[in-house]
Amino acid sequence: MIRYSVKVKGIVQGVGFRPFVFRLAKSLSLCGFVRNTSEGVYIEIEGGNDDCEAFITKLKTNPPPLAHLEMVNLTKIPLAGEHDFLILSSDAGIRNTLISPDIGICDDCAADIAMKGNRRYRYAFTNCTNCGPRFTILKDIPYDRQNTTMADFPLCTDCREEYENPYDRRFHAQPNACHVCGPQLSFYQDGEIDSQDPYELFDRSIGLGQIVALKGIGGFHLACDAKNEEAVNRLRNKKLRYDKPFAVMMRDVETVQKYCELDDIEKEALSSSEKPIVLLKKKKDCLIAQSTTLSNTRLGVMLPYTPLHCLLMQEHEAIIMTSGNLSDCPMIFNDEEAFSKLFHVADAILAHNRQIFRRMDDSVCIIINEKTHMIRRARGYVPQPLYLCENNGVILAMGAQQKNTFCLAKGENAFLSGHIGDLDNEDTSKCLESEIESFIRIFDAEPEAIACDMHPDYVSTRYASRYRGKLPIFEIQHHHAHFASVLAEHQLREENAIGLIFDGTGYGTDGCIWGGESLFGNIKESTRTGHLLYFPLFSSEAAIREPWRIAIAVTDMAVGRETALSLFPDYINEAKILLQAGEKELNSPLTSSMGRLFDAVAALIGVRMHTTYEGQAAIELQQIMDESAKGSYHFQLTRENNSIIFDWRPLIREIISDLKSGIHKGTISLRFHRAVLELITSVAVSVQSKTTCGIVALSGGVFQNDFLLKNVVPKLEEKGFVVYLNERIPTNDGGISFGQAAAASYRMR
Ligand code: ZN
Ligand code: ZN
Ligand code: FE
Repeated sequence: MIRYSVKVKGIVQGVGFRPFVFRLAKSLSLCGFVRNTSEGVYIEIEGGNDDCEAFITKLKTNPPPLAHLEMVNLTKIPLAGEHDFLILSSDAGIRNTLISPDIGICDDCAADIAMKGNRRYRYAFTNCTNCGPRFTILKDIPYDRQNTTMADFPLCTDCREEYENPYDRRFHAQPNACHVCGPQLSFYQDGEIDSQDPYELFDRSIGLGQIVALKGIGGFHLACDAKNEEAVNRLRNKKLRYDKPFAVMMRDVETVQKYCELDDIEKEALSSSEKPIVLLKKKKDCLIAQSTTLSNTRLGVMLPYTPLHCLLMQEHEAIIMTSGNLSDCPMIFNDEEAFSKLFHVADAILAHNRQIFRRMDDSVCIIINEKTHMIRRARGYVPQPLYLCENNGVILAMGAQQKNTFCLAKGENAFLSGHIGDLDNEDTSKCLESEIESFIRIFDAEPEAIACDMHPDYVSTRYASRYRGKLPIFEIQHHHAHFASVLAEHQLREENAIGLIFDGTGYGTDGCIWGGESLFGNIKESTRTGHLLYFPLFSSEAAIREPWRIAIAVTDMAVGRETALSLFPDYINEAKILLQAGEKELNSPLTSSMGRLFDAVAALIGVRMHTTYEGQAAIELQQIMDESAKGSYHFQLTRENNSIIFDWRPLIREIISDLKSGIHKGTISLRFHRAVLELITSVAVSVQSKTTCGIVALSGGVFQNDFLLKNVVPKLEEKGFVVYLNERIPTNDGGISFGQAAAASYRMR
């Protein structure tokens, strides 16, 4: 006989861990107890040596699907001689535990709702300890029903029995519910409840080509038939979303395979319990309405992830599921707002009476070279912590202005928030504040230091400044934050690396707008070793939505005024004024942005003059690429004050000459992309020659470009470099807050 105490840390609460321990102990005839503690779960087991060993092995190798074990600590203790194994109630005031993200419906629950005779047949809010809502219904900790929005629904006798039975899959499943006691659906049309079967009403609406606003886990979606061109177009017009692709929910993997190319890794990501949107390549004869993605060759696809989705998708193969909002506003998640705003867009609303406590957008990822890259990390992932090695304080990192997320790092756990959005929008910045307050409370993490961007006008920077004089504030340069996000994600602690950080916009230390940068350094700090040759951003912000302005600027610099004006006859008068303003340095800040250079090329060859969403010109430039073409353009590397200048003028001259000789746009696009690949390797080689460093870290929104992503790694590896990219953390500005937290953490040490 032997007795052990076992301490387990990680995501072990609210995921069916104690009943799992209970059943395991019982099956091995062990005595003892299990209890939630402020740090995780505490277990004592007593029994035969072999049985105890078996217990530990199974605990480590076969925990419940949603558990995430970070540490299992084992100590031999004196025998106590009890006769049973018990689940003890948790200590009150537990504040140091990890909370599970919202998890897609499990196979068992999917079977329950599909089986006639089951008491949860067709029940849209079915869940168990292995699946269901978690973080979006959580108001406070500890994670108990009364602290969630399920507090309004007292358990019925049957549900209570399940809840109290350690052998049941729903033991202590806080959102447990059924037809009798749980939330109910309501279908609204013309502002009134329609009491007929909501599933049938939904089917009828979709069949008629209507738009239905659908309340989900983290907010409202707008849904319509993805195969009905007219319906999709109508949604575009009503939502004022003219070009940006819509995501589609498909019934099952087999359906996805009908419309999209799907390899094993994509299939795995799509079916994972996180259920993200995966950007898949459309098949040539894909029958999804063309206006879903317009010119885009990829389609964002997700599988049903709630019981409601599963039930609704029974009658439909593919439904558009785009976030329920008006143009640039955040996704709507409360009923009141939905009813006041979404009826302008939707013909009907399918809602329910379970409150969503916090908004959580769908996560988005892309798989390139067999690796998953998160583009938006939200539902299914948040608030699972990211590892921030050896951090020992509490840091609140405020993130960037666009695609804002914040990051609350408490010790080695970095809690990256869900997608907050663009803080130019007032609603979004309010949401940032309330989410920060909520995170601080839930993770019991009062900030000891603040990290923010250097940009004085960012909403997030202004928020940080309220702590001035009270807490240390670390201003982290935007591109260093991108760089640090890759290094910290891959735990390159104090190691030096060469960073190539390409994005749209970031505040530089010289007052210019950076975005095509080469850095050298580590998580803590870096120096700028090179950058794209500066060019003026005519009428600053407006240039971002009007790529032709950038094309004029770079052509003017590369070949002169006459050609610049001759290439854009439609804009000649405005162009003249811009060029004159530029000479006087009026409203024409200088930029080294790689994103803007992509825009310039897109406009130069006539692919896109005006944009309606971020990255549009670059995306469309890539879409038209002819990968079978030959040749490449060239950047010229020159030196200026110890800095490498990536001179793009030769490249612009080559493009103009190709344009004149009638070379196909697809070829020009390919040659440009190849030039960028070549630039990356030649800058890396150049920095290596001075530093002997063989590690390259790539980050910034430009690396969402799947052609670059696919080709850059083998190209650098060919030259002997070890290459790191963002994977779990977005390479776009959604990853900035994690990088800020990492950099600040090292500066504090
Ligand atoms: Zn389940
Ligand atoms: Zn019930
Ligand atoms: Fe950026």
